[in-house]
Amino acid sequence: MHTAPISLYDRIETGMHNDIMRAALGAATGRFATQRLASLATLPDADAVRDRARAMRRRTIAQLDRYLIELSDQVEAAGGVVHWAPDAAAAQRIITGIAQANQVRTIIKSKSMVTEEIHLNAALEAAGLQVIETDLGEYIAQLAEEPPSHIIAPVLHKTRQEIGRLFQQKLGVDYVDDPAALAAIARRVLRQAFLSADMGISGVNFAVASTGTLTLVTNEGNGRMCTSLPRIHVAVMGIERIVPTPDDLALVLQILARSATGQKLSVYTSLLTGPRRAADPDGPEQLHLVLVDNGRSSILQSDLAEILTCIRCGACLNVCPVYRSIGGHAYGSTYPGPVGSVLTPLLAGMDEFGELAHASSLCGACREVCPVRIDLPGLLLKLRHDTVQAGHPPLWLRLGLQAYALAVTHPWLYRLGGKLASAGTRLLAREGWIRRLPGPLSAWTGQRDFPAFAPRSFQESWARRRQSPTPGQE
Ligand code: SF4
Repeated sequence: MHTAPISLYDRIETGMHNDIMRAALGAATGRFATQRLASLATLPDADAVRDRARAMRRRTIAQLDRYLIELSDQVEAAGGVVHWAPDAAAAQRIITGIAQANQVRTIIKSKSMVTEEIHLNAALEAAGLQVIETDLGEYIAQLAEEPPSHIIAPVLHKTRQEIGRLFQQKLGVDYVDDPAALAAIARRVLRQAFLSADMGISGVNFAVASTGTLTLVTNEGNGRMCTSLPRIHVAVMGIERIVPTPDDLALVLQILARSATGQKLSVYTSLLTGPRRAADPDGPEQLHLVLVDNGRSSILQSDLAEILTCIRCGACLNVCPVYRSIGGHAYGSTYPGPVGSVLTPLLAGMDEFGELAHASSLCGACREVCPVRIDLPGLLLKLRHDTVQAGHPPLWLRLGLQAYALAVTHPWLYRLGGKLASAGTRLLAREGWIRRLPGPLSAWTGQRDFPAFAPRSFQESWARRRQSPTPGQE
């Protein structure tokens, strides 16, 4: 997880004032959302498919221990090596150890959110290894020294002009902003990396327990090159990314790309079972599967376990009004948007990330689009409840609620507070609205105006009305 350098509210402020990022984000997420609808309409009964996928994911998570053992046995039977990593540090150690034991110097990577989560690149680079991202978006993010801002489109927040200037500055090429020309530049640079790397690291979209098959879903073909050209392939997956059988894989593939990018299937769907066999013309000599827990077992035992059924399609980000307003970096963690607001506090700790549970309007758009129908608003409410129970609410909320409790249990105090607020806000207001509240209250008016209180409370107005009823009324 990325440690947040500044407060959530400061990051939101930064995102809200970045008009270029907001325009790029609005256009891209809007396009994804529209394409998703069109693509789902091509399924004969999309709702039934979603229901079946949800049931399958819930069934799988409920018996995760059994499927993990089955997967491990099958991967090893196919010639792979399975490693269990209880936390991020263990995963870093295991993967660095594999590289060092095999005299690896250059590593190519295909897109993987779990490796972002465990800060794998930094750990490998600290061990003296060169790591090159090969997914175009991840490559751009690596050049820009930024984390991804979307779980399927890492540089969704960047315009092509920004990418053109980045390539000019970092790669020493002439400025261009035509997407095809930019892709050609990246392809030329990355081709050398593909041919010279000793080790490829990939994520895993889904692992099939009954066959030990690792599935990779990509649009650029770089995943296929990372997993077949170098002599060692290391696949890294969160322990929940498992499906019991090939039929279950087929079921979930029907909705993954449709929900993510609006494609019926991604351009490449690679199914990898074991390393190269004697009769194979190519493929890696070694296949390692690293199963990363890093907090998932604890989530499994909680009443928020439903979040583990997520298939990481990113659809909830694309429709979230909060994500679309503040951008992915404002969340300060690997997983942004509604799914990240649930997952991050659970994986990285309530102390640092508990506030993310409030980064939602609870409008329900995320629940509507989630292909496996995760009740994200319900989980966020549970998380807020847990935050309060654990004594983690922010100071302003604690003090505010204490003051409110005092006022509503003492009518005279409530009336006095109302009168003071009415007088104070009307003093500050222009045409009924306050542009900037004083002190810590300015956090509210940072993004919107605040209405002045009415001159009279509802009770006072009601009492007056009772005293002088309008004609025709009692
Ligand atoms: S929570 Fe649902 S919509 Fe969001 S990424 Fe996961 S599967 Fe997709």
